[in-house]
Amino acid sequence: MIDMIERNVIFKDPRNKTRVALVYPNRYSAGMSNLGFHIIYDILNSLDSVYCERFFLDFDRSLETNSALHDFDIIAFPWQFELDAINILKILYRNKIPIKRDERGKRSERKQLVIAGGPCCVNPYPLKNFVDIFFIGEAEVNLIDFIELFQTQPDIEEFADIKGLYVSKLDNATKRVYLKDLDTYHPVSQIISPRASFGETFLLEVSRGCGRGCRFCMGGYIFRPKRERSLSYLKKVVDDGIRVCRPKKVSLLGASVSDYSQIDRLLEYLETTGLEVSIPSLRADSLSPTIAESIARCGQKTITLALESSENVRTAMNKRLSDELFLKAAELAFEKGIKKIKIYVMIGSPVETSEDIKEIVKLVKNIKGRIKLSVNPFIPKPHTPFMWSKFEEISTLKKRLKILKTSNIEIEIGDFKKAFLQATIARGDEKLSDILEKAVIYGGGMGAFRRAFKEEGIDFNHYADAIPTQSRLPWDNIDTGINKTFLKKELEKSYIVGTSNICTQGIH
Ligand code: SF4
Repeated sequence: MIDMIERNVIFKDPRNKTRVALVYPNRYSAGMSNLGFHIIYDILNSLDSVYCERFFLDFDRSLETNSALHDFDIIAFPWQFELDAINILKILYRNKIPIKRDERGKRSERKQLVIAGGPCCVNPYPLKNFVDIFFIGEAEVNLIDFIELFQTQPDIEEFADIKGLYVSKLDNATKRVYLKDLDTYHPVSQIISPRASFGETFLLEVSRGCGRGCRFCMGGYIFRPKRERSLSYLKKVVDDGIRVCRPKKVSLLGASVSDYSQIDRLLEYLETTGLEVSIPSLRADSLSPTIAESIARCGQKTITLALESSENVRTAMNKRLSDELFLKAAELAFEKGIKKIKIYVMIGSPVETSEDIKEIVKLVKNIKGRIKLSVNPFIPKPHTPFMWSKFEEISTLKKRLKILKTSNIEIEIGDFKKAFLQATIARGDEKLSDILEKAVIYGGGMGAFRRAFKEEGIDFNHYADAIPTQSRLPWDNIDTGINKTFLKKELEKSYIVGTSNICTQGIH
């Protein structure tokens, strides 16, 4: 058991219940700051016949009853980040749960069902040989139906009758499901822990999805259409959340929180609670004086703004943000009392050249105030217009980084090798399963992957290369609601550096 104080943990008698191990495939601090994790815990434990307990990469026993993974009927993994696929396999491996789905029930005493949900499931193929069922889309829609069916002890094939469930054994064509009305649910009882990344924070999701359509952003496509919670509903969630959770802080979540139509009024309301407020995601072009003032007054000292690249590349990405607007937003933030701005920069995206990096340097040097650049490589993601593009060679990324360093501004650099593996998993197929399994057994690092690729006779750069637009894609069987012809047209527009309208209504 662990020596930490958590509030709102659910304790039940596990006997005669369907036992679900909710396993966050990363550290405790990250999992406890993930709203999706709280949602699954809350929904499952709202059912009397189910007991859901938590595990993390750094906790091999459940935090609720100190049980082992073997004791559970269902092992559920949120799959938020591509690289967590490695951790999913590591966790199964070290807990002696047979990794391959067709070996479970043969080599072990009981047949446990392994399921996964979260954004990375829109390409389930790299984990298809290991996970029995993937939730495509938002689990609020079908999680209870899934549990009710599970409790009837069905054949695995029967799960394919539930919308949004991809059954690996069947490889069934699956359409993404999403919650139409966000005012029907928000978890109020969240586990509050001082060891979560955001501290003792109540997570408040104001909106889901984003219609802006930046061509690199998977979240911008797979959570469409953009939906918002009403102000009155959010106020009620905040009131109840404060009463039940007694947090020190409220963190506003959404694809781009400053785009929320009632943001000024919501911030006004939050100020009356006396709690610190944090907004991890803001868009420079929707940062208003009221938002900046309110953020500074509520105690947030640093904000993060995504610049991504030069104005030219941003246009090719469909990110309609001029240099002028970005500079104005930075100026406004400092004027209203924000102490530091962290600026996201993406390097290696399609159409970028060294000249674009020089443009970025020129721009950031004009910002008067404390800034830090957070630099990460572009990663081609499935179901986006840039899914056919290549992951830039690491030698080129290093050259571009060198140019950025001439700015003499503080820089935080993402791990390029990890980014390469992330790109590999993001666009992986079933063949990658064997490589993943071997790489995990060999230690899970870059060397382990090289060895596994070699043994499987696949070129190490295979998944990082550009993909011809006429090819069949591994994830073609998964329908997110955005058709491929539309994505192709978006890609073509990026070559001529053209933008598309913001999508406010439908899927695209
Ligand atoms: S603004 Fe662009 S990058 Fe941000 S969530 Fe929307 S589509 Fe993604």
